[in-house]
Amino acid sequence: MRYEGQIYRPPGEWRSYLLQCTVGCTHNKCTFCGMYKTKKFHIRPMKEIIEDIAMARAYYGAENVDKVFLCDGDAIVMRQEQLLQILEALYAAFPNLRQVTTYAGTRSTMTKSQEQLNELRKAGLTRAYLGVESGWDELLLKVNKGVTSAQMIQATDMIKEAGMDLWLMVILGLAGPGEPSKKHIQETIRVLNRMQAQHVSCLSYMPEPNSPMYQDVKSGKFKLITAREYLEETRALVEGLNYGPFHFTSNHASNYVPLKGTLPDDREKFLAMLDSALEGKSRIRGEHTRAL
Ligand code: SF4
Repeated sequence: MRYEGQIYRPPGEWRSYLLQCTVGCTHNKCTFCGMYKTKKFHIRPMKEIIEDIAMARAYYGAENVDKVFLCDGDAIVMRQEQLLQILEALYAAFPNLRQVTTYAGTRSTMTKSQEQLNELRKAGLTRAYLGVESGWDELLLKVNKGVTSAQMIQATDMIKEAGMDLWLMVILGLAGPGEPSKKHIQETIRVLNRMQAQHVSCLSYMPEPNSPMYQDVKSGKFKLITAREYLEETRALVEGLNYGPFHFTSNHASNYVPLKGTLPDDREKFLAMLDSALEGKSRIRGEHTRAL
């Protein structure tokens, strides 16, 4: 249970044991992301990882860990035999373990063959979180995501084919206001409808001080969208996602109207909540209470 640098995890992993397997992110070039800018990517020595698992067992108690999240940015990139060894050690240490999850970057996922992903799922890697951010290729290029929407679709197809639970994240407001905002959401709907993940989470873009885009916001080169435009983007997304049932959340601290439920079942309820906020009939989260 030793950690190098600041640790990030998806909100839903708040009660998981966080096992740091890699440090940083293999890509680390997205202009909106400040999470790992101070870290140089490396894989922790296996000896330390295995020791950490023993330390966690002693600290939490063998019976008390049922979920584990593998940190940092894309632990799935580790060598196959290393991941298998970690999964084996985790399930041996914690008899009640039922879920092991990780961030899975598109490129890191595609370093694996379909057979390897199947093998990881069988060994107990149950869920992959993948940051789509946007389905608009022009925007992906602009923010230096390093992958195209077609590559992301390929990676998510592989994750789903392996039988892992797929959780996608998108960033509202990432294109700025006006026509780019519309194009961002239109293309994101296209890609999400194609990927058909079991979970979709929306965050609202907030400038992270460590990130290159933060400077663009400060200098006025990048314009943030208004609260109204965030609500319109969310509304368009809720209306445009046409598969299901799947778990949809827009309840991150950065969002103006917290939504959490199942689509399509909750579509009308969500649209009514968003319309009410757009018409000024219900309150939205104040700027001072929004957080990264
Ligand atoms: S958004 Fe993901 S891939 Fe991009 S730099 Fe941040 S952690 Fe790495």
